[in-house]
Amino acid sequence: MEHVVVVGSSLAGLRACEVLRSGGFAGAITVVGAERHLPYDRPPLSKKFLAGEWDVDQIALRKPDALGELQLTFRLGAGATALDTVRRTITLADGGVEQYDGLVIATGASCRRLPNQPALAGIHELRTLDDAIALRTDLGSRAVPARVVVIGAGFIGLEAAATARRAYGCAVTVLEGLPAPLVRALGPDMGSAIGSIHGDQGVDIRCGVQVATIEGNGTRVSGVRLGDGSLVDADVVLVGIGVVPNTGWLVGSGLELRDGVVCDATLNAGAPGVYAAGDLVRWPNGLFGEEMRVEHWTTASEQGAAAASNLLAVSRGEEATPFETVPFFWSDQFDARIQYLGRGGEHDEVRVVAGSVQDHRFMALYGRNGRLRAALGVSMPKMVMPMRRLLAERATWDDALAFAAERAV
Ligand code: FAD
Ligand code: NAP
Repeated sequence: MEHVVVVGSSLAGLRACEVLRSGGFAGAITVVGAERHLPYDRPPLSKKFLAGEWDVDQIALRKPDALGELQLTFRLGAGATALDTVRRTITLADGGVEQYDGLVIATGASCRRLPNQPALAGIHELRTLDDAIALRTDLGSRAVPARVVVIGAGFIGLEAAATARRAYGCAVTVLEGLPAPLVRALGPDMGSAIGSIHGDQGVDIRCGVQVATIEGNGTRVSGVRLGDGSLVDADVVLVGIGVVPNTGWLVGSGLELRDGVVCDATLNAGAPGVYAAGDLVRWPNGLFGEEMRVEHWTTASEQGAAAASNLLAVSRGEEATPFETVPFFWSDQFDARIQYLGRGGEHDEVRVVAGSVQDHRFMALYGRNGRLRAALGVSMPKMVMPMRRLLAERATWDDALAFAAERAV
C-alpha cells in the first residue's frame, strides 16, 4: 500500500490519518475535503464559538505543527464526486482524479432542509464553520436582541437555543413536531426533563406543533407559520431538523448505501481496501447486537482510528478487528452537562437512580430484557461515566441498579 486517500477532512478523517502514521504507514496520504478549512472541531460551533467566546484558531482540531508532522497532502475546496472501486479512483469536483491503494470514506453528514424552505436572509442551518460565522454575526450585530425561532428540538436546536438566550439575550421559541425535545435520543420523559431546563431559562419550547411555512417580507425572514395558522414572529430562524449522510458521491460506486454507508463489523465498506468512519457509517455493533449509525463526536473519532487500523492490518495480511463500542455523547445546555452512554430504545424501562429531575441534576438508567442498555447523566459526571464499564461488560439490569444504588449513597 503506497497511497491512502481519506475523503472528508474533519474529525473521523483526521483520526484515520493519525492512526495510519502511528501504525507505521510511511506512504503518501491525500486528504480530500469539500470545505476550504483545515480540520476544525464542530461541538464549539453551537456553544463557545457561537457565543463569541472562542474564535477560529481555538477550534482547530490540531495545531499547525502537529498537522505538519503527519505529512498530509490536503486537497481542499473540491469535494469528491465519484468513486470507482475497480480502477481504485476518486474523481473530484475540480476534475482531478486520485488513485488509491487504500481509501477511508469520512464525508459525514449535511443538514436536512424543510421541503418548502425559502431562500431568505435570516434563515440559518448549523453544521459548518461558515454556518456558525453567519449565525453568530446575525445574532451579535444587533442593537436589540433578535427574536429567534428554532425549528427542531434536537441537539442543534437546544444547544443553539441555550446559546442565543444566554449569550445574546434573545427571545427564543423552539418548535418541535414530536411530543418532547430529544425524544429519539432520550425518550419522552428524559427529553421533557431536558426541556424543563430550557423552560426555566425562559426559552419557549413548543412540542407537537407542525411548521407550515417560513415567511418573509421580501428578502428577510419575518416569522414561522404553524399548521394551526398562527404565526411566530422571528428575526432569525435556525432550522435544526436532523442530518442526511453525505453519500451522494458514492451513488453508482457499487457500495451499499442505506441511510449511510453500510459496513461490516470491521468498518469495511464492501470493496477491497475501502473503509468508512464517522457520522455516515452504518455497521453492526456486536456489543449491542444491532446495526447502528451514530452521529456523535466520540464514535466518529474512534471509528476513524479503527478504520485506519483495519486498513493497515489487512494491507499487511493480518486480520481486521471488529469495531465494538459503547456510544457516547455529551451536550452542554445552559449550566447542564448532559452525558449519555449506550443505546436506549423506545421499549426500555427508564429509571432515575440518583439525584432529582426537578433539580436538573440526576442520573437515569435504561434497561430492556434484563440488560442495562444506556445511562443518562445531567450534571452528574462522576455517577454516569463509570457506567461505561458496565455497558461494555453487558451488565444485567439488576447489577446496574445495585451498582448505581451503592454509588448514589
Ligand atoms: P463531519 O464532521 O461532518 O465531517 C465530514 C467532512 O467531510 C466535512 O468537512 C464535509 O465538508 C466533508 N465532505 C462532505 N462531502 C464531501 C465530499 N464529497 N468530498 C470531500 N469532502 C466531503 N457531538 C458530540 O458528541 N457532542 C457535542 O457536543 C457535539 N456538538 C456538535 C455541535 C455541532 C454544531 C455539530 C454540527 C455537531 C456536533 N456534534 C457533537 C457531532 C460531531 O461533531 C459529529 O459527530 C462529528 O463531527 C462527525 O465527524 P465526521 O468526521 O464523521 O463528519
Ligand atoms: P437531531 O438531533 O436528529 O434532531 C432533529 C429534531 O428535529 C428531531 O427531533 C426531529 O424529529 C425534529 N424535526 C424534524 N423535522 C421537523 C420539522 N419539520 N419540524 C419540527 N421538528 C422537526 O438533529 P439536529 O439537532 O439537527 O443535529 C444535527 C446533527 O448534529 C445530529 O447528527 C446531531 O447528533 C449532531 N449534533 C450533536 C450534538 C451533541 O451530540 N451534543 C450537538 C449538536 C449537533 P424527527 O426525528 O421526527 O425527524
